[in-house]
Amino acid sequence: MELLPIPAFDDNYIWLLRDPTGRALVVDPGDATPVLEALGDSPPPHAILVTHHHGDHIGGVEALLRRWPGTPVHAPQDARIPVASQRVAEGDSLAIGPWRFHVLAVPGHTRSHVAYHGEGLLFCGDTLFSLGCGRMFEGTPAQMHASLMRLAALPGDLRICCAHEYTLANAAFALAVEPDNPALLACSANARALRADGRPSLPTRMADERACNPFLRCAEPAVRAAAQARAGRPLVGDAEVFGVLREWKNAFRPPA
Ligand code: ZN
Ligand code: FE
Repeated sequence: MELLPIPAFDDNYIWLLRDPTGRALVVDPGDATPVLEALGDSPPPHAILVTHHHGDHIGGVEALLRRWPGTPVHAPQDARIPVASQRVAEGDSLAIGPWRFHVLAVPGHTRSHVAYHGEGLLFCGDTLFSLGCGRMFEGTPAQMHASLMRLAALPGDLRICCAHEYTLANAAFALAVEPDNPALLACSANARALRADGRPSLPTRMADERACNPFLRCAEPAVRAAAQARAGRPLVGDAEVFGVLREWKNAFRPPA
């Protein structure tokens, strides 16, 4: 199988997985144009997966269905995703072409956000980014933190297919939180080299995220200490540390 991030808009990736016959799985097609270009006259896709309702993840579904009518569209139960043909929920197992994926409910960025895990891959939409995480539009810090901890418990060699290229900006923030983390220094140097070369910094690996991503490291003494210094008060649980980090990141402007 071939895994391909298709750049869309300013910083989105639409992920394509292709089997040896060229049939694809398309994840979060916010825009149809780059997908139609990438697939050319390939046979029809096996399916489309949707992680959440935002326009930059579903905006291209209708045009893909016009090109390939009847393609199954898997999406969580949410009235804001009217283009779905099959609804998915926590614990579901999907057989798609030669592949199998499991559905995890990961509320926080939005309340109905899901992730798809299988084939050594994780399609996690806007929940987990390399060295960062999505904004909490519809969830509490406790919810979002719990969702991220579920993802962090998945195998270390998992390749994480995030929906945005945010790694360098995330690295600047992560380094403000943990300036002395050697794994983080190495990951951020690696991402800078990839981007300087015009290549995606993704997919990232779960083991690297566990070692480097401050939002997965709220239980680490250094991360907790940085969050407490930022908040100016003692923080009780990991979710509270997470909430302070998330607000800190919202206000963070990388040093010029
Ligand atoms: Zn989103
Ligand atoms: Fe997005």
